[in-house]
Amino acid sequence: MAKIIALANQKGGVGKTTTSINLGAALAKAGKRVLLVDADPQGNATSGVGVDKSELENDVYEVLINGVAAQDAIVGADTLDILPTTIQLSESEVQLVDLPRREFRLKDALAPLADQYDYILIDNPPSLGLLTINSFTAADAVLIPVQTEFYALEGLGQLLNTIELVRQGLNPDLEMAGILLTMYDTRTNLARQVSEQVRKYFEDRVYQTVIPRTVRLSEAPSYGQAIIDFDPKSLGARVYTEFAKEVMAQYG
Ligand code: ADP
Ligand code: MG
Repeated sequence: MAKIIALANQKGGVGKTTTSINLGAALAKAGKRVLLVDADPQGNATSGVGVDKSELENDVYEVLINGVAAQDAIVGADTLDILPTTIQLSESEVQLVDLPRREFRLKDALAPLADQYDYILIDNPPSLGLLTINSFTAADAVLIPVQTEFYALEGLGQLLNTIELVRQGLNPDLEMAGILLTMYDTRTNLARQVSEQVRKYFEDRVYQTVIPRTVRLSEAPSYGQAIIDFDPKSLGARVYTEFAKEVMAQYG
């Protein structure tokens, strides 16, 4: 059975997409069968793994709104598979409202794939709208990337409340996978202070692995590659490989 993990934080630019791509690729390199679902209309995960959006026949919008089978929209990228998105997904927040099973449509779509993958990672938009709710309803766990910057904790309460609400109704089994500290800048005291603060508050729910700020990680997407393929010896590649080990220790 695939472990379904939603990467979420309604704050933008915290490393959701970078972690989706690079955790996914590292899990795949370790022999896991991985599907990346791009649930953000911006489609950064889609282009980040080298998929040309203009060539796509189907996407996650067609799956969620028009009932196309997920299987028929999946594209094979380098090391993992992706259920890609295009900008038309931005219309779905409004359109989903009037559709039957509006919070369950991603869960229903992914159900037939459960035996084909070990991990399904869902990259989410920077909002807590119906797309993210669909992800939380479909997921076993939520992984929260938190940027080690000032204001890091702002908005986390709202995110945790949303998870709790989903747990009380739509998906009682939803758990918190953990908090991942990202973009850690070793040169600043602030990064250290923020990570100490996050660990003090969330204790063992914070992953041991910390993702450093490194320019290679920000360069890889423009080449349509995960860091592991783009620059296998880089710090970013090594750290995401470590993080994949931590996630496999947690979920197998
Ligand atoms: P989100 O999906 O949460 O909006 P992204 O993963 O797109 O965040 O990251 C935001 C920006 O920061 C992107 O330009 C990305 O390339 C860059 N970035 C992400 N993680 C790192 C990192 N560890 N070091 C340097 N740049 C990073
Ligand atoms: Mg993103």
